[in-house]
Amino acid sequence: MSSALTRDALEAFWMPFTANRQFKDQPRLLARAEGMHYWTPDGRKVLDGCAGLWCVNAGHGRKEITAAVAEQMATLDYAPTFQMGHPAGFELANRLIKLTPGDLNHVFFTNSGSESVDTALKIAIAYHRVKGEASRQRLIGREKGYHGVGFGGISVGGLSNNRKYFGAMLPGVDHLRHTLDIEHNAFTRGVPEWGAHLADDLERLVALHDASTIAAVIVEPMAGSAGVILPPKGYLQKLRAICDKHGILLIFDEVITGFGRLGTAFGAQYFDVMPDIITTAKGLTNGAIPMGAVFVRKQIYDAFMKGPDGIEFFHGYTYSAHPAACAAGLATQEIYEREGLLTRGADLAKAWEDAVHSLRSAPNVIDIRNLGLVAGIELQPRAGAVGARGYEALVKCFEKGILIRTTGDTIALSPPLIISTAQIDELITRLGEVLKTIA
Ligand code: PLP
Repeated sequence: MSSALTRDALEAFWMPFTANRQFKDQPRLLARAEGMHYWTPDGRKVLDGCAGLWCVNAGHGRKEITAAVAEQMATLDYAPTFQMGHPAGFELANRLIKLTPGDLNHVFFTNSGSESVDTALKIAIAYHRVKGEASRQRLIGREKGYHGVGFGGISVGGLSNNRKYFGAMLPGVDHLRHTLDIEHNAFTRGVPEWGAHLADDLERLVALHDASTIAAVIVEPMAGSAGVILPPKGYLQKLRAICDKHGILLIFDEVITGFGRLGTAFGAQYFDVMPDIITTAKGLTNGAIPMGAVFVRKQIYDAFMKGPDGIEFFHGYTYSAHPAACAAGLATQEIYEREGLLTRGADLAKAWEDAVHSLRSAPNVIDIRNLGLVAGIELQPRAGAVGARGYEALVKCFEKGILIRTTGDTIALSPPLIISTAQIDELITRLGEVLKTIA
């Protein structure tokens, strides 16, 4: 890629979740990547503090993935999976269900986290219908939840910008209170002790709507995109118990927590709570080829298989189980297993926690939250300019050679799981230096 992309050359691409005018006036281009680093077109090295976008868990430029995808493309470039199949789809499904807890042993393939979420919501509603409870159509999400950008996902999600810009959502959706409480829990290391009772909010919604109208509750076991929000100790267990009591399905959106982010294959194992459905994407293929997967418990799949003969679930994508994505997924899982990456986050968690909490005294830091190989560093918003400090941090970090992610004034860190302790120190030291320069 040329380092001399003109302002005009940047115009045609309407960039997603980007301040386009700011970016195009001051572009931040990434041209190459390997291991823990990106390189800019002019050769500057940038340490990846957020695994691309929470997805490159095995680090960049993994040659095994490239080779597997190339071989697959040369052998079978595309095959439909509607009423047809190809070996790699079945192979990947069989490999993945070895990682999932309990009987979460059926996989529906998608192409992204957003599609995984919409697929899971549709499975939940259709599941109750095939079981003879068609009145269970209501979906419950949570404030501040992020479940991608489809209409299903933004409806159960709890971000006000979606409500502001995209108008009416899916009917019948309601929301639990979120679990972020800086007043009680600021600077907690790991999950906070305070707040398990927030799960009782589900009883309020059951009392309001009646359980017979509710299909499912969807939450991120640890919310990443809205600014690293942790479940209080015991919260997810309580949510599970209330769902069980009322026959409501529990969906964990593990697009971020799936594939080793917390030091276990899935967040469900980290928290020792068994959901009925898990949504994933990102780390499934190390970010190399778009792919998502939805895992469902045996009883859910079986319920569909007891219906009338014919297509049991009226849903699917042209690219569900795309051969190239399957090849990338298989090669990725091979790397995770061989290098022990799905549990490496657990080995690094303490060093990571100590490192990120060393930023406590940096200017404007009002909270630090951490879990596994994730951290959220919350900055005090500037009066009348929410998000300005966060954006300045993003730009200055990039100039200083580290890639971070910001949501408003919260900095999120989630490096590739191959990071060394020396690189953790480098990341946090440079971030600390940047924070000192931000008024
Ligand atoms: N769900 C969660 C929890 C996410 O964090 C994300 C993306 O960050 C999504 C869904 C959407 O994934 P995608 O951007 O692949 O559609």
